[in-house]
Amino acid sequence: MTNRERYDTCVVGAGIAGLNALFVASRYLRGDERIVLIDRRDRAGGMWLDTYDHVRLHQPHEFFTAGNIKWTLGKERGYLADKAEVIGHLQHCLEVIKQRARVTELFGYAFEHAEEANGTVEITCRSEDGHEITLEADRLIKAYGQRIETNEALKLSSERARSISPDHVEVWGSEMRVSDEPVWIVGGGKTGMDTAHALITEQPGREVNLIAGPGTFFMSRDRSFPSGLRRWWSGEPISSVLGEWARRFDGNNEAEVADWFRRNHGTWLTPETGNFLGAILSERENETIATGLNEVVMDYLVDVVDRNGSSEVILESGATMPFEPGSWVVNCTGTLFRGEYPYEPYTSSSGRVLSIQNRSTTFPFPGGGMAAYFLTHLQFLGKLTQVPLYALDAEELRRNAPDYALGSALLSLQMYNLSVVAESLPSRAFAKIALENGLDLDRWYPLPRRLMTASNFMRTHGREREHHKRTLDTISERFDVVCGPLVNA
Ligand SMILES: Cc1cc2nc3c(=O)[nH]c(=O)nc-3n(C[C@H](O)[C@H](O)[C@H](O)COP(=O)(O)OP(=O)(O)OC[C@H]3O[C@@H](n4cnc5c(N)ncnc54)[C@H](O)[C@@H]3O)c2cc1C
Repeated sequence: MTNRERYDTCVVGAGIAGLNALFVASRYLRGDERIVLIDRRDRAGGMWLDTYDHVRLHQPHEFFTAGNIKWTLGKERGYLADKAEVIGHLQHCLEVIKQRARVTELFGYAFEHAEEANGTVEITCRSEDGHEITLEADRLIKAYGQRIETNEALKLSSERARSISPDHVEVWGSEMRVSDEPVWIVGGGKTGMDTAHALITEQPGREVNLIAGPGTFFMSRDRSFPSGLRRWWSGEPISSVLGEWARRFDGNNEAEVADWFRRNHGTWLTPETGNFLGAILSERENETIATGLNEVVMDYLVDVVDRNGSSEVILESGATMPFEPGSWVVNCTGTLFRGEYPYEPYTSSSGRVLSIQNRSTTFPFPGGGMAAYFLTHLQFLGKLTQVPLYALDAEELRRNAPDYALGSALLSLQMYNLSVVAESLPSRAFAKIALENGLDLDRWYPLPRRLMTASNFMRTHGREREHHKRTLDTISERFDVVCGPLVNA
């Protein structure tokens, strides 16, 4: 590649968001038009390349893909893919797209800035060793998505605590296996559950404790994804369940609505819960973890300190607990919506620059994939600046609001924007786009049930949209966060 090349489309980010943007671009571009894909990592896969080794995809694997690209694992539908399998599939998606479109890969380069002038976007990126490249493109898609970085070990005062991050020290690895000291998992969300499950099943008898904060509940995999023939009559398509949540939520009653959802569709192991961010767990995994844990502490960890020859855990409530020297403290605190990035709108005023990130999020689930899928379609259709989507500053909301309010607001946002897109496109075009959307979890169910859910949505979304709008306006006012149509679009 020379130092100044011209492309039709530039996509930054090769995670699930970037690959969905690339998939959609490949649907619109002619065979001679070129796309450049930039990522600071050295290959496709996004956060999955660096996250802990015992991670599992929490939804059935076929629904984590770019567009409608099929998995090639040959496993049964409900199989939960492991880290290597997810990375393998995301790289397979890139290969499939490359067969349809002219894609140049620019891995190992960080996007730095872009400027729009005379109908093109000038893009500057740089490699780690300082090599700068400037590109020109008709459009730029910054598919940063969740922009997840690895977690660091917690900084603790005690010299007797072995504080680690699962992203850097493998809990299945020899370092942890050779010692049999207790393990303290800090964080009761998906990473905490993955880690507890890995430890309990791989090293039975090891003392594993959980410091769970407010407690998290999960969507029950058994109820959301019934297997075999039961898919014909039991369970309920996810969009209709989440739609019901958004219908019940008015911007003020997050605890009540979360409680309804938890009782009807959830699973959890802590005595109380205060958190839900869309993660999925089976009843069996939940039971295995609940049975295998030694102690579950409903509090936040402040520190581990050495005092008078012994060590103790200090909790936010002021309570303390004895801590056996040499015990492991595993940082499983959340990473979602925790960035400190400057605000940016999801589109520039021309519509040439699309930006998918959490400061102006539009379709939050799953990851940046859904937003990349729908917004890239709107960009290529020339409608990105015309469709009055709501954009929510999810990073700010996470700082300002209780956890249930964040999860509920994100669901209302997703339902609102889906309705706005459905309203803004001719129904055939919307149906075609919806049909190719492989991230849609409703695809778990047989076609007649999906058609029924889709037709219910088409019948009711118009009148429900006003309710979602009021809910989001309430959230914006109550927590003082940006949530509404873009002012500069
Ligand atoms: C521990 C954990 C487990 C999860 N498990 C699941 C799960 O089971 N199912 C699920 O649906 N979701 C899961 N998620 C959420 C998950 O993050 C998303 O679903 C998804 O993989 C995120 O993809 P993304 O493309 O939005 O972001 P990322 O995967 O973070 O990809 C963004 C890419 O952009 C690149 N990038 C960013 N800035 C620049 C720049 N300036 N220059 C160049 N490149 C740049 C990054 O290098 C990265 O490759 C999980 C999240 C975590 C933290």
